[in-house]
Amino acid sequence: MSSRFIPTEELDLFCRFCGKILPAKLDRSIAEKGKLVDISSTFEYYCTKCFKTICFSGEDLFHETEEEPPVSDDFRPYSPKNHYLIGEKLFHETFNESGVIVGKENSKPVKILVNFEHKGLKKLVMDL
Ligand SMILES: [Zn+2]
Repeated sequence: MSSRFIPTEELDLFCRFCGKILPAKLDRSIAEKGKLVDISSTFEYYCTKCFKTICFSGEDLFHETEEEPPVSDDFRPYSPKNHYLIGEKLFHETFNESGVIVGKENSKPVKILVNFEHKGLKKLVMDL
């Protein structure tokens, strides 16, 4: 019943150890190149600077089929009610700015860490 997908090889993620956004790479021991993996798995990305691992579940990284398909280079408007994924781009109307999701906090409510072009890193709630 579980969906399978090919995880992104490289992502710009917020490294809480380095305190900034750095390119992170998928841990090879978990997913081989181009290999389909279960969406419910946990994926380990390692920071290319400090080599510490940052974990995400497949649900954080992959669009479920019942949601609208990802449109590349399209900025979804931000709403706290929406569900967002790591690597996704959004547009914040109040900030009048677009940003890329670089991290996620599994708090309640769930917070996403968004890197805005001018405002920099901002935490926003989602799934409200
Ligand atoms: Zn780091």
